[in-house]
Amino acid sequence: MKQKIMTKKIPMKRPFAVVKLQQGVRLAWESHAEPMSGTAQKPVEVSAGELGVMFLGHSSFLLQMEGANVLIDPVFATRLIVLRRQRRPGIKVADLPPIDIVLLTHAHMDHLNRPSLRRVVRATKAATGQAPIAIVPEGVEDLVDVLGFREVRSMKWWGETQAAGLDITFTPAKHWGARMFADTHRLFGGYVIADAAGHRVYHSGDTAYFDGFKEIGERLHPQVALLPIGAYFPDTYRAVHTSPEEGLQAFVDVGAETMIPMHFGTFRLGREPMEEPPVRLMDDARKRGIEAQVRILGEGETFVAPPREDSDRRDVSLASASKSA
Ligand SMILES: [Zn+2]
Ligand SMILES: [Zn+2]
Repeated sequence: MKQKIMTKKIPMKRPFAVVKLQQGVRLAWESHAEPMSGTAQKPVEVSAGELGVMFLGHSSFLLQMEGANVLIDPVFATRLIVLRRQRRPGIKVADLPPIDIVLLTHAHMDHLNRPSLRRVVRATKAATGQAPIAIVPEGVEDLVDVLGFREVRSMKWWGETQAAGLDITFTPAKHWGARMFADTHRLFGGYVIADAAGHRVYHSGDTAYFDGFKEIGERLHPQVALLPIGAYFPDTYRAVHTSPEEGLQAFVDVGAETMIPMHFGTFRLGREPMEEPPVRLMDDARKRGIEAQVRILGEGETFVAPPREDSDRRDVSLASASKSA
């Protein structure tokens, strides 16, 4: 039995705001305990028809798809207000290829970092003379419209748009959208991005486990699923985030070929040990006999998928997606 040191103090029920503040201070304090680790890499060259998925840390990715470079939730900041990142971003902004599209899943600080977005815009504009376009959930436009993007498009759940030769669908999630407190009008979600070569990538954004994964799989048939596995402890966090086992179940539900886990190891957001999520994920994947389908990427590492043989599949699934929309 665990022996606890007893004190005379009778625990008083602390107000919610005080609990949140104390949790925040503790997480910020702990985030400064260790030096930052990891090194930035250069992007790999992917050939025509191939798909490149480069992990930049936390929920940030660079997708190299047929003719287009896409950034999702790019965060290059060393700290988010007082929370310091534990691992360096997987690439330096200066080493990014010119970016066509920036996708933002929601307005939370660990996903939408305005200084990072400004730097991305500036770098692409300097290289090509043209800024990227930004695609955001409805209600998030005001946070990005002064950052220099060529265009800002906003999306509703199941909305579709085309940009840089890609078909992009905004997908539901179980989370919340407010960046501060009162701005609850901001929507949140994920994206399925499809290219002309038949690749289809799903980035769920932040989400709890929910029925929506099955529907996303049935309607959009992602091939690669980028799914969160961190910030699940204490258990109450699982109202808005997935545990590693729930992240794996989401992967099974969407029916993708490959899972790449995210939302762990970079920012100390939950109370679980920083190194726990990938270990629990692989334990569960081995139990289910699907460990070969799970690819844990280090920062700066790229998953490359070969050209699709069944690239006609995309039209079929797009057709069925729009039919049921
Ligand atoms: Zn997050
Ligand atoms: Zn979030």
